[in-house]
Amino acid sequence: MTDPVDQSRWAGLRARMVAEDLEARGLSDRRVLAAMSVVPRERFVPQSLAASAYDDRPLPIGEGQTISQPYVVALMADAADVGPQDRVLEVGTGSGYAAAVLDELADEVWTVERHGDLVLDASAALRDTLHGGVHVRWSDGTLGWPEAAPFDAIVVAAAGERIPVELVDQLADGGRLVMPVGPSDGPQELVLVRRHGSTTIEERLGQVQFVPLVTDRASGNSASVVASARPSTGGSEPDELAGYCEPFSSISGADLTGLVDRTASARVVLLGESTWGTSEFHQLCARITRALVTTSGCRTIVIDADWPDVAVLDAWCARRRPDRATVPFTAFPAWRWRNQEFGTLLSWVRGWNSEHPASDAVRLVGLDVDAGDVLRARALAALDERDPVVADAARRRYAAAVPWIHPTGPAPSTRSPASSLVPDVVDDAIAAAVDRLGSATGAAARLDPGARRALMDATEASVTGIVDAGPDWWSVRERRSTELLGALVAAADGPVLVWSHSSRVGDASATDLDLAGAASLGQACRNEWGTAAHLIGFGTGSGSVAAASSWGGHTEVLRLGRSRPGSVEEMFTSTHFPACLVDLRSAVRSVAAGGTDARCGNSGTRPQRVLGPVVPSGPGQRPDELQADLAGQFDEFVWIGETSAVVPVPVRSVIRRDRFPGGRSAR
Ligand code: SAH
Repeated sequence: MTDPVDQSRWAGLRARMVAEDLEARGLSDRRVLAAMSVVPRERFVPQSLAASAYDDRPLPIGEGQTISQPYVVALMADAADVGPQDRVLEVGTGSGYAAAVLDELADEVWTVERHGDLVLDASAALRDTLHGGVHVRWSDGTLGWPEAAPFDAIVVAAAGERIPVELVDQLADGGRLVMPVGPSDGPQELVLVRRHGSTTIEERLGQVQFVPLVTDRASGNSASVVASARPSTGGSEPDELAGYCEPFSSISGADLTGLVDRTASARVVLLGESTWGTSEFHQLCARITRALVTTSGCRTIVIDADWPDVAVLDAWCARRRPDRATVPFTAFPAWRWRNQEFGTLLSWVRGWNSEHPASDAVRLVGLDVDAGDVLRARALAALDERDPVVADAARRRYAAAVPWIHPTGPAPSTRSPASSLVPDVVDDAIAAAVDRLGSATGAAARLDPGARRALMDATEASVTGIVDAGPDWWSVRERRSTELLGALVAAADGPVLVWSHSSRVGDASATDLDLAGAASLGQACRNEWGTAAHLIGFGTGSGSVAAASSWGGHTEVLRLGRSRPGSVEEMFTSTHFPACLVDLRSAVRSVAAGGTDARCGNSGTRPQRVLGPVVPSGPGQRPDELQADLAGQFDEFVWIGETSAVVPVPVRSVIRRDRFPGGRSAR
């Protein structure tokens, strides 16, 4: 298709179509004719029909639907009088061809289609033909797109008995709506509606034949009875949820323009995975990171990992030598960050930094100031010697993403009080943490007394948390991380981006997560920055993840279990989208305005899977879950239906320095 000979042949066919089928039949608007002569219709029809792409007739595109005849597309664009500053809504995306033509004419285009497969194909064709800026939604288009309204023009590409009043409501003052009106099997007329204030003027433009506008609404075929009546929510739950989804079929092809727009005024953007070790999370977060760095001025990336390890990566990205050699991410669960996917992003950051002045460099910071991974490893090793039963219980507890949701094993504090163990373990673990922090900052001696004290406190709380089951350690950690984030946001011009886990990124007040009165990181960000904090959660359906089957075990590729009935995972699986972005803020606004209930806004909580480094297996084992109200928890949700495991980079190759950034032997 990209062959220049093909290109010029298609261009020739297009020019003939414009001259013979459009101009010769009376269409004269220069802008419309120009748009029709550049959009490659052959890319919007099934390949087997490409040879007929420039015949002036509809062609089948699957699902019993058709791509409109070129003359009709041009006629409707002409009648809607689409100008270069206009915001345009199309109902009935079909192949995406007319949306592409409208995109050539307008400032911004939104298009809605009720067949999920067509949405996916049209999105891909729009992207391939450089119309990726068009917003595509799988929904009942008779409801319009309320969050993006008002529109200067609305083009309805399917015929209904009456013009849906919601669409007229979504017209701007002076806006135009074009729609075929009439029975599906009888005469239809193309009608132009102009809105002037609260009145409308209708004009009939001639006979046409379109496929029917189908609606599942209880109110019947596209008929809205009275302007004030809200549609009844007759659709099934996945259909309603689907209305808020922006589907995509590949990570590289996901259209992030909506997400980037929605984060435009954010001071902090948090990304949280619900299952560790999924390649898709890393790849999509890398794309989001690159987009926010290149378009939104983001220069600080905060990684939910031990601070000293991230300092090594930061030095590598800035082509600086770290103060002391440290092999990053050697403590369990090393693969969470030491994987090829994350390494690819680091290489990109390094490239960015070498092409930009130091003032524009991207900086990496570790979220865990207490170096928790190393601390845990040290504390557990120390506990092994003092009380193996307590150590074993602690390991099992830490196998969960949120250790005290479903406590397992004997309660350690009843067997050996934490207080008697803590001093020894604390001393040892603090020494380790201070040593690593020291190596990252220059020397332990350079830690000022305040910072050192804060570190000691955090460390002590961490070790107590390891010994005593309970949320205290977590809440101390959240407070420390929040303080760090506050300082970073205050110092940053652009948004600060955080990569973490959904249990930290989400607003815990919308979940059953007990943080002993403390706020989760995302919740604290909301308290501090309101809507300028954008919380993005990720959910996963089925597939594989890199994980261990017990704490401290080897990295394996493990399968995710089936989703539970009634869970968030099951709800998204039933949309049949391979993957999607969901703008939960709009969903909530729409529900508040009386629109359809996406069942993620106000219907209470659902089970939501949260997995850490260990995927439990064996009889009676089930992954941990939260009970959460998704729309209260996050501003945006990313659904990945099928996951694959990250590719871990073994420590050996880190030490040989051939695979992962910053790897220098400590010897
Ligand atoms: N504009 C398209 C042609 C669309 S044919 C193109 O250029 O290819 C009409 C489309 O409207 C069909 O794909 C059909 O599935 C869709 N449709 C019908 N009723 C709909 C509704 N209520 N909401 C959204 N899309 C609808």
